Amino acid sequence: MNSEPILGIDLGTTNSLVGVVDSGFPILLADENGDRSTPSAVSYGDTLLVGAAALRQRALNPARTVTSVKRLIGRRGGESDWKPRYDLKELGVTPVEVSAEILKRLKAIAERALEQKVSRAVITVPAFFNDAQRAATKKAGELAGLTVERILSEPTAAALAYGLDKLTEHQKVAVYDLGGGTFDISVLEMREGVFQVLATAGDTQLGGDDLDRALAEFIAQRLNLPPNDIRVLEGAESVKKRLSNDESASFDTLTITRADLEKIARPWLERTRAHCLRAMSDAGVKAADLDEVILVGGSTRMPLVRQFVAELFGKEPNTSQNPDEAIALGATIQAGILSGSLRQVLLLDVTPLSLGIETFGGLMNIIIPRNTTIPAKAGEMFTNAVANQDAMLIRILQGERELAKDNWELGRVDVPFPPGPKGSARVGVQFSLDADGILNVLARDTATNTDTTLEIRGTAIDVADERVEQMIAESVEFAFDDMNERIWTEARIKAEELLPAVDAALAQLGDSISESETQEVREHAAKVRQILDSADHDARALKAATQQLDDATQTLAVMLIDRAMEESLARRGLV
Ligand code: AMP
Repeated sequence: MNSEPILGIDLGTTNSLVGVVDSGFPILLADENGDRSTPSAVSYGDTLLVGAAALRQRALNPARTVTSVKRLIGRRGGESDWKPRYDLKELGVTPVEVSAEILKRLKAIAERALEQKVSRAVITVPAFFNDAQRAATKKAGELAGLTVERILSEPTAAALAYGLDKLTEHQKVAVYDLGGGTFDISVLEMREGVFQVLATAGDTQLGGDDLDRALAEFIAQRLNLPPNDIRVLEGAESVKKRLSNDESASFDTLTITRADLEKIARPWLERTRAHCLRAMSDAGVKAADLDEVILVGGSTRMPLVRQFVAELFGKEPNTSQNPDEAIALGATIQAGILSGSLRQVLLLDVTPLSLGIETFGGLMNIIIPRNTTIPAKAGEMFTNAVANQDAMLIRILQGERELAKDNWELGRVDVPFPPGPKGSARVGVQFSLDADGILNVLARDTATNTDTTLEIRGTAIDVADERVEQMIAESVEFAFDDMNERIWTEARIKAEELLPAVDAALAQLGDSISESETQEVREHAAKVRQILDSADHDARALKAATQQLDDATQTLAVMLIDRAMEESLARRGLV
């Protein structure tokens, strides 16, 4: 190889793989034992061990052996539901540092296989990873001595692995990824060599491990053993795998048929259905619109999974790629494209959650909606809501809820401007989200042309992926309440502006309006005040009452204008 290659890396929860494009072909690289898959495990004993060696140490030293660190990366401590058997604080390392050890090992495997130094890589992350998690993954790469050329979403990588030979076709594909611990479903569109993730959904607590536990329970019950017996649990996984090829398998004296397993697996598998439907609905596609359904993840080796997917999507899934290697292969292809050793394909990805800012009244104002293709740039102009304000605090939010307080704050910028009347300041806010999902915020005071900028990377709030799912679920669950609260807030702002104006008009007009007219306006105003003061937050009633007050004061407004005209003319001696 003449120029320095770029590595493609699948940094997985349980296993990691590394590849490179050699003479135009993507290949995965094996270690000195011939293994192409490295366990994502790091053991902090007397010597630091990574991969299979770390796993072998695990039984001796469980508290010093770190596995599944991907579940912790880019999150604040204690935020994950997942409880590891180790304590990183006690070990004195961070998830980024642990990930860096795995990446260093992969780099070493590649350098040994290629007999040359490498310093650049493309690393994959789940489509659900937020800015902080992507930034943390990038940092781990840098710590391992790698320049991270691109953070790539896993379904996009899988689609690349499948789609390389069909670059000129226009098609829509679904990537159904069922691994050991997580499930992801993504819908992508490929058009003239351009990939775009249209939508993504999933469950971070759903995978082959759950089925192993269910099968272990079944086995334990039949054999009268405790269900959490580690031997039964490991036996269950082995039986499960054998049943992907054979009609029956045995554990101890018990024979388990594929039909037994499938009966247990059905409800487990059914849990993926709603996510698939949601992703299709978000992407605006029907099953019939999909040209291919791609299977990724070890659990998709099960015949029942293939059958289920075929039924759900109405077509046979494409199983032409090795489900364990597709993501690494895709990362390698992307690396090859970046290094110029494969032809150019543009990659587009989407935002998992909406990005916006808080506006007056505590509402969420979305600037970049969920499922927008990245890189993306969008902006809006804001003004001061109160007179003599001399700064605007811009809170940058991520989430799907109508009220700012229910979303997550990613950061804040304070934009100073010269004080003036309400509506006089003009602050343009621009969001740009780069291909790695890192957000840059630019706030510009257009009067003075002063820019304030903020880059949101690791400092961002740690939005764990299951919390992304939860956020989306809650946005649906609370949609009605949220919408009511938004309409209420908007109506309240309007009412609070109108009431003092009405009082001022009544005072100014004094006796020049009839008693009955004054009475009517006062009654409408009292009604608005009463609704404002009540705890019900009845948005509809407030809106209606404010509208009635507005209507009732129309004649007052006309009279005020007339009077002002008369006074002005009188001053000039014209009447
Ligand atoms: P992954 O996370 O993609 O490596 O997938 C690992 C999961 O796939 C584990 O739950 C394995 O038990 C499961 N798995 C691997 N091979 C098979 C197989 N032949 N049949 C059923 N499940 C499998």
